[in-house]
Amino acid sequence: MHTDARKLENNTKIEGDICIVGAGAAGISMALDWNKNGKNVILLEGGGFEYDNKIQDLYSGNSTGQRYYPLRSCRLHLFGGTTGHWGGMCAPFDPIDFKKRSWVSDSGWPITLQDLVPFYKKAQSLFELDTYNYNLHYWQKEYPAITPFPLDKDIIWSKMWQFSPPTRFGKTYKETIVKSPNIHLYTYANLTKIITNNTASSIKELIVKNHEGKTHKVRAKKFVLACGAIQNARMLLASRGVAKKGIGNDNDVVGRYFMEHLEIKSAELWLRKPISTELYIFDYSTRKPRAELALTERIQEESGILNGTASLTPLVMAKQQTPLIDVWNNEDPRKSFDKLVANFRKSREQNTSWQEKKGNRAFELFTRMEQAPNRNSRITLSNEKDALGVPRPQLHWELTHLDKYSLRKFYHILGLQMGKAGIGRVKLEEFLWDENDNAMPDQLGGGWHHMGTTRMSEDPNKGVVDANCKVHGISNLFIAGSGCFSTAGAPNPTLTLVALSLRLSDYLKTS
Ligand SMILES: Cc1cc2nc3c(=O)[nH]c(=O)nc-3n(C[C@H](O)[C@H](O)[C@H](O)COP(=O)(O)OP(=O)(O)OC[C@H]3O[C@@H](n4cnc5c(N)ncnc54)[C@H](O)[C@@H]3O)c2cc1C
Repeated sequence: MHTDARKLENNTKIEGDICIVGAGAAGISMALDWNKNGKNVILLEGGGFEYDNKIQDLYSGNSTGQRYYPLRSCRLHLFGGTTGHWGGMCAPFDPIDFKKRSWVSDSGWPITLQDLVPFYKKAQSLFELDTYNYNLHYWQKEYPAITPFPLDKDIIWSKMWQFSPPTRFGKTYKETIVKSPNIHLYTYANLTKIITNNTASSIKELIVKNHEGKTHKVRAKKFVLACGAIQNARMLLASRGVAKKGIGNDNDVVGRYFMEHLEIKSAELWLRKPISTELYIFDYSTRKPRAELALTERIQEESGILNGTASLTPLVMAKQQTPLIDVWNNEDPRKSFDKLVANFRKSREQNTSWQEKKGNRAFELFTRMEQAPNRNSRITLSNEKDALGVPRPQLHWELTHLDKYSLRKFYHILGLQMGKAGIGRVKLEEFLWDENDNAMPDQLGGGWHHMGTTRMSEDPNKGVVDANCKVHGISNLFIAGSGCFSTAGAPNPTLTLVALSLRLSDYLKTS
């Protein structure tokens, strides 16, 4: 079922068993999991089925600290959410990502990789991906040409990725949601406030509004916020009533620990002699699985560094590419997206000449690295309000010494191993030369991956949700999405956030 909330009578009361707020990757995955199961599921979406500039403007906000993409355009505010723009890169987290690491403050999830594996398998098909197998040997049988570099396996390994078409959730799953007998989707239903009971121990109802001046109330037994990591934190902080500091924020953790992936051109690789690089080059035309170079758990521990990977791009192509942070700078997400596509197209034209030029031996090494959890990196509220009266978000993105140290050390190790194996030489980018320089350059980009703002921890002083994604101290409020990540892992987050949402869905069915 579908209702445009703008067409409802003002002050309509909406009731159901479970209410999911936000129809992006997380919200739609959860709703689909409840399809035809007899429960009355309310799915609230702030936007409509098409882009709407007035709705998108509700996402505007300011940033301080490390330079970041405009908050207005780094997410999409409509049915399907940011999957309308995502690239489809998928890989599960590594076992180490969930562990407590003595050298990474506030690391350690209350769950393990094994807890997520059944849900990764389930998530895989939602992304129209092949089998849940991220083992190099498995893929080598299918593509014999993909051979790993002859590096010491105790030090460096090849982490496999798969590529979703990319699935646009708003297009692929619209019909199933709209025709579902028990999911009731309301578009143009923007959550503006969460109302608790008198002791702030449970959620009573949600207030939703739209630009037509209509206000509705939503009641359910259980509520799930699935509006993305920045927006979920903003909604909790903005819902001040009985809970004076915002909902779930008695310990001042909501919005803190904002994390991104550190994505930046970091070095060049010059091969000594021709060697197959096919495994490590992303081919847009086939989207076949490929790998990135990663350091083993033991080496990360011995070196005291974060988890990360390096990918290869032919240098002639890489030199045509402008850093993403300089490309994705338009406040209109559609314009930024067009610029991104043009940027890749420009470099792909060079790919043809690269392929023809036999014996080309120069590659760029591009980093994708987790950011260390940092309390000071955070979302807060600004004094300015959006058109529906909700305070706008403010991002302070702050990095630490460990982030820069890990980046530099990663390439020192990689360079040493490439030399030892006779593969070639690694030349670091200038920003990594000075060992005393802890600053990150302005060309550092993120992957538009927002994580950590409602992080998972069994300790309410360190996290907003528990191992089941339930907000500490509130009996019927849950969070879905990468805001729940305790640490960021190196891979892009969407496969993991959908797996985590499906795990939450499973929990809600049985609790
Ligand atoms: C250019 C780009 C490329 C990317 N590439 C990749 C990639 O290759 N791999 C990867 O893993 N990730 C990638 N990502 C990130 C990926 O898109 C996100 O991780 C993912 O979409 C987040 O899912 P979500 O459901 O948590 O949030 P979203 O998809 O952002 O969905 C949130 C939903 O909540 C709705 N909403 C917000 N506020 C309210 C409210 N107040 N009331 C009601 N509804 C509300 C929104 O309209 C939206 O539908 C990319 C992102 C971008 C921008």
